[in-house]
Amino acid sequence: LAAQSHPNHQTIVKLSEKVAFGGEELVIIGGPCTVESWEQMETVAQKLATASVQALRGGVYKPRTSPYAFQGMGESGLEILARVRSQYNMPVVTEVMSISQIEAVATHADMLQVGSRNMQNFDLLKALGQAGKPILLKRGLAATIEEFVMAAEYILSHGNPDVVLCERGIRSFDDYTRNVLDLGAVAALKQITHLPVIVDPSHAVGKRELVAPVARAAIACGADGLIIECHPEPEKSVSDARQALSLEDMVDLVNSLKLVATAV
Ligand code: PEP
Ligand code: MN
Repeated sequence: LAAQSHPNHQTIVKLSEKVAFGGEELVIIGGPCTVESWEQMETVAQKLATASVQALRGGVYKPRTSPYAFQGMGESGLEILARVRSQYNMPVVTEVMSISQIEAVATHADMLQVGSRNMQNFDLLKALGQAGKPILLKRGLAATIEEFVMAAEYILSHGNPDVVLCERGIRSFDDYTRNVLDLGAVAALKQITHLPVIVDPSHAVGKRELVAPVARAAIACGADGLIIECHPEPEKSVSDARQALSLEDMVDLVNSLKLVATAV
């Protein structure tokens, strides 16, 4: 189902009335790694709504490496997302880690993210086939392109046609960048599937000063959009502080992307 059957067929995945992946317009999703407070999300939305950022991100169920690290605000974070979504009329994307969270997340968010660590959580993928909302499927930490496409196939074959693939870097021998961004995979996925493909430069490089150049490269490479972490006070982010852009840098980056998009 994920495979390209007729040349140049492109699936369009709608996020809202105005925002769709896979069409003419690049879709930029911005926001913090983790939802921390109403004030934080309001500051982010206020700034990004005036830039060409169409959707907000923010995790409330966080897959943290350490069980002692902040695990996310849970349902109270979902309420913040719901409020910012309606107040700023911007769709929101947030991660779902388990089947038991699907109903609540699907009630409040416009798109459900499957994180890298869950890319092959097959029961979760099957359940998301019935979620009734588009899915942002992130590539596993060490998943091959074939495994990635097959993970999408689980969601599609269980009834949900709205899947967007997200390349976010893979593990390799060099951890100077947090992961290694596989732009070849972006080009390949665009050719072998009909699904929209976006890139997460933040988790790919892990360092804020490297986010902008790889984001521009991703667009030049044919990505349909980007998901980028930013924060009102980047150094104070409760998670992924090192890679968070300031809101000002986020807006500058988004403006610079328009030039790349019109050039390709
Ligand atoms: C995230 O988006 O904050 C996240 C945890 O991403 P990934 O699953 O790609 O590591
Ligand atoms: Mn993060």
